[in-house]
Amino acid sequence: MTNEERSLNFIEEIIEEDLKEGKYEKIVTRFPPEPNGYLHIGHASSICLNFGLTQKYNGYTNLRFDDTNPTTEETEYVESIKDDIRWLGFTWKEELYTSDYFETLYGYAVKLIEKGLAYVDDISAEEMAELKGTPTEPGKDSPFRNRSVEENIDLFSRMRDGEFEDGRRTLRAKIDMAHINMLMRDPILYRIKHAHHHRTGNKWCIYPMYDFAHGQSDSIENITHSICTLEFVPHRELYDWLIEKLEIYPSKQYEFARRNVDFTVTSKRKLLQLVTEGFVEGWDDPRMPTISGLRRRGFTPASIRNFCDRIGIAKRDNLVEYSLLEFFIREDLNKSAWRRMAVLDPVKLVITNYPGGQDEMLEGENNPEVEGGEGSRQIPFSRELWVEREDFMENPPKKFFRLGPGLSVRLKHAYIVKCEDFVKDEAGNVTEIHCTYIPESKSGHDTSGIHVKGTIHWVSVPHAKTAEVRLYDRLFKVEDPGNEERDFKEYINTESLQVIPNAFIEADLANAEHGKGYQFIRKGYFTIDKDSTSGMLVFNRTVTLKDAWAKEIKKG
Ligand code: ATP
Ligand code: MG
Repeated sequence: MTNEERSLNFIEEIIEEDLKEGKYEKIVTRFPPEPNGYLHIGHASSICLNFGLTQKYNGYTNLRFDDTNPTTEETEYVESIKDDIRWLGFTWKEELYTSDYFETLYGYAVKLIEKGLAYVDDISAEEMAELKGTPTEPGKDSPFRNRSVEENIDLFSRMRDGEFEDGRRTLRAKIDMAHINMLMRDPILYRIKHAHHHRTGNKWCIYPMYDFAHGQSDSIENITHSICTLEFVPHRELYDWLIEKLEIYPSKQYEFARRNVDFTVTSKRKLLQLVTEGFVEGWDDPRMPTISGLRRRGFTPASIRNFCDRIGIAKRDNLVEYSLLEFFIREDLNKSAWRRMAVLDPVKLVITNYPGGQDEMLEGENNPEVEGGEGSRQIPFSRELWVEREDFMENPPKKFFRLGPGLSVRLKHAYIVKCEDFVKDEAGNVTEIHCTYIPESKSGHDTSGIHVKGTIHWVSVPHAKTAEVRLYDRLFKVEDPGNEERDFKEYINTESLQVIPNAFIEADLANAEHGKGYQFIRKGYFTIDKDSTSGMLVFNRTVTLKDAWAKEIKKG
């Protein structure tokens, strides 16, 4: 489905209405990550929405780091966030930081004080909570609520100068302690925190609260549509109040539902725990729902964008199936991945009527999904081959169209072979399969007149290269680990990573490129992992093929 084919989402409807009324010349959005972790698949949804809207309506999107909380933000996160957005294929207009507005925000706070709309409060957090009231009971005024403007100005500047310790005083908006919206009951605008900030260093010891910084930053940047997630619905009233009282550019806030994916968690706080407590190798572990994890796993930018586009936006929180993401990566890689052969669980197949010491080069197209196959590669063939252990059965059931005593199969891109015999070791494991081949059955030149139902993949023993292959399963055993009774880490799937230290791959895969997807025929889509060395390639399985190979094997 392309953008044009689907109907407008509710934010597009609002924008089209705004444009019709001539409210804005340009649509301006922002993506406002807090640099306290790596971006995840939920953020991708917000990125695709914000950047997608301004692409569609010919505006622009700013990248704004929401760095008002000095203790958790790090430069590493800033860099990873920029990498991830670029990789997804989006370009921001300006790279901005809320911390760059600290001086302006301070000025706004002074303006509110001067208008009699903010005051310095001395009560403790506990007292403040007590006076706040409940949703059904009005709150009570703080004894410091009616300080004079002069006293407030003086105290606020002394807060800035570092005269008071953390938590000793706050700056609060003076709205209404009986307001039905609890967030409007004199919300805190500034708190004291003597902490080093990743950009402003030790310049500040008072920091604005989210509600005071966010809408004001939007306004400073002339953001027309400030899109956030549903938990901010009750904040909208305060957002509008502050902008109105400050008499600054009227940005507007719109909310959409968070996108969460099943069998994983999408919360930076939880993902951080997985990293710091060693449940995964890092933020970019291929099992992580982070953008960097998905990229390392082999997902493409298009697959993630298509996924976000398909799930669209909603007004109610819901879980999206991970399998939908898999659908989009399969769809993308099916069209682009070059086909190769690799044997993950090998057993030797010997072609008894093929001369020892001889070999030949067979041809295999790179990509059967496009005309011309995007060229082809040479595949060495010889008397001894590795085949998949599961492709042989000593006592095969009916309809087992692979190898077993007396059964014939086609070797992909090669010949039809018939299983004549096999060898077992003392433990009863099959160690060798003995076959004869039909010289006239060569793929593409088959004059044998023989038809077989199954096709299997193989790798020539003397020509095979080895690689480490990593297979992944879901990171969690339950659908919504963040919403279970026990701690989410108790639901981790301890078998989510399976390492095959010595898989056999066809010789040409030694030329595999980083960042490209390869289909290992019948085994799934794979990509090179960054752990690869010159001596040993490491492949990640991005996704299995599901049933797709059922069609594949008929072609031979
Ligand atoms: P987390 O709980 O993971 O820390 P957050 O909302 O605190 O998420 P921010 O860095 O503040 O993370 O988010 C940046 C933007 O991405 C915000 O506009 C936020 O609303 C949006 N966003 C975050 N998580 C999701 C999600 N799961 N689905 C859609 N949008 C999201
Ligand atoms: Mg946040």
